[in-house]
Amino acid sequence: MSSGSNVKRHPIPPARKSAPEIPGADMRQPERGRFSFRGVILITVAFVLVTLLVMYSILHGLGDEEDTQATGEVAVTSSDDGGSSNGSEIGDYEDLKFGSLPPGGKYTKKGSGKFRTAGEPGKTFGKGKKKFTYVVEVETTLKSSAYGGDDAFAAMVDATLANPKSWVGDPQYSFQHVDEKKLPKGKKPDMRIQLTSPETTAATCGDSYGIETSCNFPGEGRVVLNEARWVRGAIPFEGDLGAYRQYMINHEVGHGIGHKAHVPCSKDGALAPIMMQQTISLNNAEIYKINPDKAFKDNPNTCKANPWVFPFGYKNSK
Ligand SMILES: [Zn+2]
Repeated sequence: MSSGSNVKRHPIPPARKSAPEIPGADMRQPERGRFSFRGVILITVAFVLVTLLVMYSILHGLGDEEDTQATGEVAVTSSDDGGSSNGSEIGDYEDLKFGSLPPGGKYTKKGSGKFRTAGEPGKTFGKGKKKFTYVVEVETTLKSSAYGGDDAFAAMVDATLANPKSWVGDPQYSFQHVDEKKLPKGKKPDMRIQLTSPETTAATCGDSYGIETSCNFPGEGRVVLNEARWVRGAIPFEGDLGAYRQYMINHEVGHGIGHKAHVPCSKDGALAPIMMQQTISLNNAEIYKINPDKAFKDNPNTCKANPWVFPFGYKNSK
């Protein structure tokens, strides 16, 4: 570093050589001298730096807090845009109002309104005469790799519709996952089961409930499944994403095949009917606060979350 000054200050190098048995002591002497001189400067500089850092971090921290409090939306946006679960988010979970989105993984708010095809067509489930053809699609803005990719979504749709606890358990129905390009000319699939951004979902379904929902858009046979819900689920399902995804598919496909009406919880403590709006709540009165449907009015029943149309099989669930 400054061997020159070292030499200048110790102009008798032979003295070092003459005492080889204590080179360490000899070397330490000038080091100590330097430390005592530079140490003061170094400590002073370090102290100033640390002080500046502490002041900066205090000011910076306060700035963040002001932003969050001032706009409100900053906190909501950062939470909605994802981030992993942590202690504070679990704390937040308990304070969630019914209908709101639980904390969890990332999803893409922005939509393109365009969709890419997903999954493997070809399979038919059931033998019923009321046959519904469908394709599976994912909106082009979505980054589905975070939850297994487009094909994992399509596989979940297929597996759910193939399950005898789903609509296909009713012998009047059958479902076929088709390749749209191979349909007869001019023929469209009966349903387009689409994983959709919240933005496009709101544009398609409306957002009169003020919460993230999915919907069926019958004009174009669209079964609109909201990616925010696919990733985060809903409070009544208590973190069971698999069950919630099955519920989303079964409920919205239910609308798609003609089950238009919502059904209230008929018995306190029973499994919720598939056509109950379980995303909002398992309690009729709470649903009524968001959706003033007279079927739910003055009905205090609370059901248990249920993703299936026929949870005990077709014959036992009627
Ligand atoms: Zn519905």
